[in-house]
Amino acid sequence: MIPVRGYAAQDAKSPLAPFQFERREPGPSDVQIEILYCGVCHSDLHQARDEWGGSLYPMVPGHEIIGRVVRVGDQVKKVKVGDMAGVGCLVDSCRTCPSCQEGLEQYCEKGNVQTYNAKAKDGQTLNQGGYSEAIVVDEAFTLKIPENLDPAAAAPLLCAGITTYSPLRHWKVQPGQRVGVVGLGGLGHMGVKLAKAMGAHVTVFSHTDRKKQDAARLGADAVVVSSNQEEMAAQTGRFDFILDTVSAQHDINAYLRLLRRDGHLVLVGAPEKPLDVRPFSLIPTRRSFSGSMIGGIQETQEMLDFCAKHNIVSDIELISIQQVNDAYERLLKGDVKYRFVIDLASLRK
Ligand code: NAP
Ligand code: ZN
Ligand code: ZN
Repeated sequence: MIPVRGYAAQDAKSPLAPFQFERREPGPSDVQIEILYCGVCHSDLHQARDEWGGSLYPMVPGHEIIGRVVRVGDQVKKVKVGDMAGVGCLVDSCRTCPSCQEGLEQYCEKGNVQTYNAKAKDGQTLNQGGYSEAIVVDEAFTLKIPENLDPAAAAPLLCAGITTYSPLRHWKVQPGQRVGVVGLGGLGHMGVKLAKAMGAHVTVFSHTDRKKQDAARLGADAVVVSSNQEEMAAQTGRFDFILDTVSAQHDINAYLRLLRRDGHLVLVGAPEKPLDVRPFSLIPTRRSFSGSMIGGIQETQEMLDFCAKHNIVSDIELISIQQVNDAYERLLKGDVKYRFVIDLASLRK
């Protein structure tokens, strides 16, 4: 076994603290990665604080992982020692069900295996995430990181990037279509960059007027302050597609009514409590309301290559692992531009 240092939550109430644990020795198809950077996703906070229920402790969060390959098993072909590799939210799946065969491992019908807050396929080992110095992953669940992307700023692509890219592709967003992105946080700012690169006309919905300039700088064509009812009313029936990335309670009907006939509102934000949907927000205009979860491995690689081509990375604030609890508090206040990324060199000191 490989001894690894990390930061873990021991329960829903305590701050994250130093934690020592073990990773498996790499098997024939495994890759060992020295972690350099790990993004801080709002899902890390939801899970560390057990906001979705059923959290498994001790929990080392982190699923936006980038690092150097330091060891590979003798059957590994995808990456070699010295390569920059990534690991996102998934580390395994059944690999045989129809979803897995279609490359949709996130929807594995036997249950996908997540990077942390999940048991490994043996049903025993608790998986631990990227707020740590090393990880061992089957090559099938590693990603190749294009050389032209800054590795720290590319880390958030592994969750925030793919979570916004996948629905834009699945619902076939086309050049010239009107796309709304609700919530300008880690996911939202990636949604803006990706939808723009796909040629859409992008409007950001933000709940205060504080992010107007940033939204424009990130490429948005328009910004609507969602707490301003007049501004919202002016957008009624205009959108082909709206991506909702909000992490907290909000009125979903206020966005459904902004869709044109047959428009789609796709939820990726996962607030703790249920959302109320009024039947007549959907029925008279045949609008649809859907959800979407991250993306499969093949699509994640496609997204990374798309980002390399269009020179897209995340806007980040690099922090030390010792600052992670402060970063969680700042995330709750919306005080991040637009993703915290942990520099794991701070753990090796
Ligand atoms: P984040 O950086 O904290 O961004 C969330 C944004 O929501 C904020 O920037 C803010 O945008 C808006 N918001 C926050 N509180 C609000 C409130 N009270 N009322 C209205 N808007 C509010 O979080 P993130 O990392 O992007 O994650 C967003 C959500 O997506 C989380 O729930 C996370 O768990 C979920 N997620 C889902 C998937 C998936 O596969 N579906 C993957 C990753 C994350 P404005 O200030 O611009 O309004
Ligand atoms: Zn995430
Ligand atoms: Zn499967």
